[in-house]
Amino acid sequence: MFSDLSCRYLVPFHPKRAPHHFADLLIIGGGLAGLRAAIAAPPNLSVLVVTKDNLLQSNSNYAQGGIASVFDPEDRFENHIADTLTAGGALCDEQVVEMVVRDAPARVQELIDWGTDFDKQAGELALGREGGHSHFRIVHALGDATGKEIMRAVIERTRQSPNVLTWQDTFTLDLLTHEGACRGALVWNPNHGKTIVWAKQTILCTGGAGQLWRETTNPQVATGDGAALAWRAGAELRDMEFMQFHPTVLYIAGGSRSLITEALRGEGAHLIDRHGHRFMPDYDPRAELAPRDVVSRSIVAQMEKTRHPNVYLDLSHLEAAFVRRRFPGIAAVCAEFGLDITRDPIPVRPGAHYMIGGVTVDLEGRTTVPGLWAAGEVTSSGLHGANRLASNSLLEGLVYGAHAGEGAARAAAEIADDFRALPLANDRVEERSEPLDLADIRDSLRSLMWRSCGIRRHRDGLTDAAEAIQRWQSYVLPRQFPDAGGWQLQNMLTVARIVVAAALRREESRGVHQREDFPQTDDENWRRHISFTRAADDGG
Ligand SMILES: Cc1cc2nc3c(=O)[nH]c(=O)nc-3n(C[C@H](O)[C@H](O)[C@H](O)COP(=O)(O)OP(=O)(O)OC[C@H]3O[C@@H](n4cnc5c(N)ncnc54)[C@H](O)[C@@H]3O)c2cc1C
Repeated sequence: MFSDLSCRYLVPFHPKRAPHHFADLLIIGGGLAGLRAAIAAPPNLSVLVVTKDNLLQSNSNYAQGGIASVFDPEDRFENHIADTLTAGGALCDEQVVEMVVRDAPARVQELIDWGTDFDKQAGELALGREGGHSHFRIVHALGDATGKEIMRAVIERTRQSPNVLTWQDTFTLDLLTHEGACRGALVWNPNHGKTIVWAKQTILCTGGAGQLWRETTNPQVATGDGAALAWRAGAELRDMEFMQFHPTVLYIAGGSRSLITEALRGEGAHLIDRHGHRFMPDYDPRAELAPRDVVSRSIVAQMEKTRHPNVYLDLSHLEAAFVRRRFPGIAAVCAEFGLDITRDPIPVRPGAHYMIGGVTVDLEGRTTVPGLWAAGEVTSSGLHGANRLASNSLLEGLVYGAHAGEGAARAAAEIADDFRALPLANDRVEERSEPLDLADIRDSLRSLMWRSCGIRRHRDGLTDAAEAIQRWQSYVLPRQFPDAGGWQLQNMLTVARIVVAAALRREESRGVHQREDFPQTDDENWRRHISFTRAADDGG
């Protein structure tokens, strides 16, 4: 265990000096998992959903490729289960995998019932194929903008629920705990400042942590807040060493790090190096359709071999009209930089993409803290093991969002209304100190994580990273900041330290966690989870 420098609460608060809001269910996060949980609540329960930016800023909204589900008559649940287990590097929970895979068609059907317009072929759902999948089973929409279309329909469906209130631009600072149970959260809202939300049950759906790394596909909101909130509240975090890097992120200086979906490779795109050589068959017989971690590592090796900062995706051998129709979003982004994807190779390199580790949850979405549930990317449910199979995460959000929403609603319905504040406060006031250049620390942290805790890891780099992060923590974590810039940095430092501690502890290579000093998988010692819990502390 490392020395934990986090304070229980980020900012001072007192019930006599803050507005109060009472809800049956508080849902933190308005991506797919959060909104699916909100929809699961019956109309007689009051639900408050808070999102730190507007509703469209979530990983869900940016999802491209689609949702994995068995629809093809040639396919079987057993195939999808086997593919998920194979990708997961012997660390998946088989019961969870089976449950999620079998639930998938019904969850996709719900989305269709709520108005999601998935792409069709001859009147049937068009099914794509991605790396690691043995069959065509990826349901997609708007070509390569699946998340946008799903979220449009789910936001619309949520708006039809009069019991669901949404506060956008509302930053959740901390979960409130009393006598070991979660009782709601302290949030900051531009209209009424620090506000105490008392909730009978709370569901954490805050998504991922890609922003901890310099290169990432994730939007700005993905700073790992949920893991940090849960950590300070005493919940168990598990498998934090497993960050999945997406192999193909657009790499154009000054451009956004747009993800170039795996579906391109599924449709036949080739990965070539600066000399035009198609290199994936040199590394793996599955070539471009090998699992993501294999493709990411191969790209890094080829970049080193050719001394070039990126490789390229080549679609020039595919029919141009098909490419434009199937990938209109990517075609438009590349066109802004003068690239015609039907002709020009697309420059790509890997980037941090999906946080596999997170808050430990059971099959229903319960965390280890009573009254606190969680769903989606913020969790470690056991579905992904050591490596996520492509397009299984939107599915996880749907399944666990529904479970957590239903479970939390049942638990809340058994608790009588009691509109009283609890004696919870944080009276700690920091001494005045020199201003800090937060952007500088944030950039340094992201570069460090990319360099030392990225696709390839080694004890020396990880040890240096742990020391540097702990040093930054020592003067950033005790501070009390007035706004989200500081709070996010504190959360990022808290989560990064745990990721590095877990990466140091796992002395083997498994799934997305690759140690140069321990290149083998060691089932005897390491076929197990690594978890961390902060000492229980209600604060105040
Ligand atoms: C570019 C891209 C493409 C992807 N493509 C696919 C794909 O094709 N298929 C697939 O299965 N998966 C894909 N993924 C992964 C998938 O999108 C995510 O895993 C999934 O959408 C996560 O959903 P979520 O609801 O858990 O979190 P998110 O959708 O990220 O939502 C998180 C929510 O939490 C809120 N939040 C965060 N912190 C706070 C805070 N402190 N206070 C208040 N609110 C907070 C945010 O505002 C947001 O509303 C992709 C991801 C990216 C980035």
